[in-house]
Amino acid sequence: MIHQEQSHQDIRDAVRSLCEEFPADYFRKVDEERGYPEAFVDALTKAGWMAALIPQEYGGSGLGLTEASVIMEEINRSGGNSGACHGQMYNMGTLLRHGSQAQKEFYLPKIASGELRLQAMAVTEPTTGTDTTKVKTTAVRKGDKYVINGQKVWISRVQHSDLMILLARTTPLAEVTKKTEGMSIFIVDLREAIGKGLSVQPILNMVNHETNELFFENLEIPAENLIGEEGKGFKYILDGLNAERTLIAAECIGDGYWFIDKVTKYVNERVVFGRPIGQNQGVQFPIAKAYVNVEAANLMRYKACELFDAHKACGAQANMAKMLAADASWEAANACLQFHGGFGFAAEYDVERKFRETRLYQVAPISTNLILAYVGEHVLGMPRSF
Ligand SMILES: Cc1cc2nc3c(=O)[nH]c(=O)nc-3n(C[C@H](O)[C@H](O)[C@H](O)COP(=O)(O)OP(=O)(O)OC[C@H]3O[C@@H](n4cnc5c(N)ncnc54)[C@H](O)[C@@H]3O)c2cc1C
Repeated sequence: MIHQEQSHQDIRDAVRSLCEEFPADYFRKVDEERGYPEAFVDALTKAGWMAALIPQEYGGSGLGLTEASVIMEEINRSGGNSGACHGQMYNMGTLLRHGSQAQKEFYLPKIASGELRLQAMAVTEPTTGTDTTKVKTTAVRKGDKYVINGQKVWISRVQHSDLMILLARTTPLAEVTKKTEGMSIFIVDLREAIGKGLSVQPILNMVNHETNELFFENLEIPAENLIGEEGKGFKYILDGLNAERTLIAAECIGDGYWFIDKVTKYVNERVVFGRPIGQNQGVQFPIAKAYVNVEAANLMRYKACELFDAHKACGAQANMAKMLAADASWEAANACLQFHGGFGFAAEYDVERKFRETRLYQVAPISTNLILAYVGEHVLGMPRSF
């Protein structure tokens, strides 16, 4: 490693040694087969890493967001992709913060042990996009059930999950005073729902990310699966986003270091015109600049973690960390691909796979434009633009 080692060396060493059992050719094969890294995710779950944020009283390890982010960073830094499993780490936060005591006691220990996978969260819809308050999926109370109708898109890891958090409208938009009201969140048991009102259509995509279109047609779920109060779902979803943003920032940091290590090694070894290509400033500087930006983004990531773990407001830092880290990893990815020349395009070098994987974070789970809109409005006090 060419950069300074960071904190939490014990966690880094343990996650690295698990990741060493799943080297590059493992992930390359999964990517080629458009498969899912089942054995890797099982190993992470069995070792308890996915339960980092679950309190000890519910069977998790009760670690902070800082430690959880180190786990995610190390997975990506090893050449893997946390996108296959990060939902299992943070989706349970909604239950933990807003679920009833009975829900927490029932679900959290099973999620911590891996007996139940809560990998999926369904928010995005095809016709509403980022404008979440316009969601058209409805949940209508009928006796002791809710009946769900509508459609979702880009819902990840549904085929590798037992449970899913669902955002749906329980009061029509026209009947609420604020557009953020009248939405609710539910826990959907996918094992019971699929084929009985819920159908799942996989979406082939650039990243080999297991993601799907969902169709709800009179899906009935028990009323007790409502999380928290009816009508407050949008607020509950927002509550969970700071953790998600910060963990994904850490994944991008891991990617950034992976690209920089990979390209630095390559440009030191590759000899063209009788000298290593890394001797040319035209090669050195883009790599050095990407490294500077990864390091800077890393500071914002730790700042966001520190505030989150101290239960202080961290919306600005979590969003800024996500944007800076996604930009830095993308810059590092471009330098890495560029200076591998033609070999960057060969699957066996893993650069093109990681390049595709890290590109996603410019768009999902929130696009860079929407982060800038958040900073413009909520941090700098400019007028709301949408
Ligand atoms: C691989 C993958 C996995 C995903 N997994 C999940 C998941 O598990 N669960 C889930 O709910 N969603 C998931 N998503 C959806 C993801 O969160 C959305 O794609 C993302 O939020 C952008 O929404 P959209 O695609 O509808 O884009 P749109 O909202 O249609 O926006 C398109 C572009 O226009 C820009 N734009 C839109 N409005 C504005 C504005 N007012 N000002 C400036 N720019 C604007 C955006 O920045 C964006 O780049 C996933 C997406 C992908 C690709």
